Amino acid sequence: MKIVHVASELFPYVKTGGLADAVAALAGALADEQHEVAVFIPGYRTVRKKPQAAGAVRKLKLKIEMGDEFMSGHVEVFSPRPKVEIYLICRDEFFDREHPYGNGERDYEDNAERFIFFAKAVVDTLRLTELQADVVHAHDWQGALVPLLLRVAERRHGLTLAMKTVFTIHNIAFQGLFPARAFLRTNLPDELNNIDGLEYYNQISLMKAGILFADRVTTVSPRYAQEIQTAEFGCGLDGVVQSRTEDIVGLLNGIDTAIWNPSIDGLLPARYSVSNLKGKEKCREALLKAHGLEEKSRVPVFGMVCRLTEQKGIDLLLANADFFLENDCRLIVLGSGESRYEEALKELVERAPEKIALSVKLDEAMSHLIEAGSDFFLMPSLFEPCGLNQMYSQAYGTVPLTSNIGGLADTVTDADEDGENGTGLTFPATNDGVRDGLRRAWALFADPQRYAVVQRRGMEKDFGWKQAAAGYEQLYHNSL
Ligand code: ADP
Repeated sequence: MKIVHVASELFPYVKTGGLADAVAALAGALADEQHEVAVFIPGYRTVRKKPQAAGAVRKLKLKIEMGDEFMSGHVEVFSPRPKVEIYLICRDEFFDREHPYGNGERDYEDNAERFIFFAKAVVDTLRLTELQADVVHAHDWQGALVPLLLRVAERRHGLTLAMKTVFTIHNIAFQGLFPARAFLRTNLPDELNNIDGLEYYNQISLMKAGILFADRVTTVSPRYAQEIQTAEFGCGLDGVVQSRTEDIVGLLNGIDTAIWNPSIDGLLPARYSVSNLKGKEKCREALLKAHGLEEKSRVPVFGMVCRLTEQKGIDLLLANADFFLENDCRLIVLGSGESRYEEALKELVERAPEKIALSVKLDEAMSHLIEAGSDFFLMPSLFEPCGLNQMYSQAYGTVPLTSNIGGLADTVTDADEDGENGTGLTFPATNDGVRDGLRRAWALFADPQRYAVVQRRGMEKDFGWKQAAAGYEQLYHNSL
């Protein structure tokens, strides 16, 4: 098959979150299966500066209709490996900037124009290069206009650009909501600026276009596919998702086992596997030492790595601070994000610096060490489309403690509820839920034999992308 992906992030060229990893891994896995893969991303400054993109060739010039004016741009193409081509949609005014979406404080004010331009440029490139895709697969709000614009262009030019379109929701909390006037930039017919089109409470929603007009809609876990059809998790788009209930499917992301594998992980002070866990001990010591935490008797080490935002359940952690203060244990948090959470966590550290440590930074190596060196990995998220860390934890023999929602529910089995298959402990995303989870973790740690069984079971699970990509392949085949 010829498969075209459209996304705003792609590892290792540009990444702000899990989207970049997912698109890169999926593209690679499909190429491994001998499909022809093209990935369209914006030609951000960071991307074009990457040495891998140095050989990019200027392929064509673009003149994109944006409302009542035309905007120029161009397309560069390079191939980082056989069967994969990366198309960069370039227009310096839009993409030659420090960050993809904003300056850190605020989103760029012209994001509607930037990503409408991007989507239109993708469709024009598909037409002008006669790429003849079997499947065009767009991701998140930044790519969400593509399935609709593609069908409109087909009608206008009397040709076929793609057999089928797929749209994946990686996080429904980010919807591409813009003032109504941005609709004019799409040049779409007026009848699409209403409740059955892009209109959303007197604004326009780009994500809504993806959900309504793609042939198939996917999201990144089966549980999340159900949840986003409810008011609690749908972020206002639950009704729209419900209208596609027949065509929506949840396919779990995988993890990159070439990077996240404790038996080959070069970022760790020692390596280990399920058959020999000695190296994990070394990682545990190194982790405590790196944070200046001593240990006289063997006590449980709780690790956490995440963006410090409401989504990640930091409030629930803080509400249970007394658990960490009263019990002989260690808590190590790595993350950055909202300053209110950074401050609150710093205060917590001050109350017990001999037990609790915080690093406010992005630190890839430390995130590996926390995964490897902890006894438990904490993820009390309020919502989690898929989540990666709970899968990394299991691969690293670190028992995950997670809320029982979204992708967490699909990838972690509670060891108290299911003694045969349990790989972690799961609980409702509430203060009491987290409290109960921590108590049960304490009990599990006090029983080293049972802890070892749960730990090993997690390490033996297969979270690789091969399996995940097979789900998408099947979906493409079925839709064709
Ligand atoms: P999300 O995409 O919602 O942030 P995921 O669990 O899907 O959550 O993926 C987050 C990824 O970012 C994980 O690989 C996690 O380890 C990593 N990460 C988050 N915060 C940090 C940090 N401060 N330093 C290093 N890696 C981090």
